[in-house]
This record gives sequence, structure tokens and C-alpha cells, in this order.
Amino acid sequence: MITKFDSLDNLAACLADFYLLYFKHNHFNMKPQINKELCIGCGACESICPDVFKLDDGKSTVIDLPDYTPYQSKIEQAIEACPVQAISLEK
Ligand code: SF4
Repeated sequence: MITKFDSLDNLAACLADFYLLYFKHNHFNMKPQINKELCIGCGACESICPDVFKLDDGKSTVIDLPDYTPYQSKIEQAIEACPVQAISLEK
């Protein structure tokens, strides 16, 4: 038997799930940006996530992709690893 409390509890859980999915989608599908002035071409980002970052003429570039969500964890690792904080996320 579903009580009124159970229903509200379930509704709250559904809303929380929806919010998390919505937040993740909008937050995680952000394209990384490289500040070319700061980049020293160390290659750390490319080593961590070669599907997204590629060195070109001694500077990192971001490969154009329709969705960066599958690489979010690696992108975040690359951001952490960049010694000069040249990587940022922008829509
Ligand atoms: S980790 Fe930073 S400094 Fe190194 S290549 Fe990538 S963007 Fe450039």
C-alpha cells in the first residue's frame, strides 16, 4: 500500500533524479577552451584525453565534438593536470 508520505517521498526522489540529470547534461556538455597565451605545450592534456585535446604547433587545441559529456571525467583530469591553468570550460 502506498501512503501519502510514500508518494511524496517518491516524487521528491524523482525530482532529485531529474535535477541531477538536467544539471549533469548542462554542466558536462561544456566545450573546453585553451588559453593559448598561457599554454606551454607540455602535452599533459593530450596524454590524459587524446580524444579531446591535440597539440598543434606546440599549443594545445580542442577537437570539435558534438558532445563532450563522455569525456567529462578526463577533461576534468586534464584541467587539474594543466600546470598553467590554461584550460577552462565554456558553453
Ligand atoms: S596541459 Fe595545459 S599547458 Fe600543457 S598542453 Fe595542455 S593546455 Fe597546454
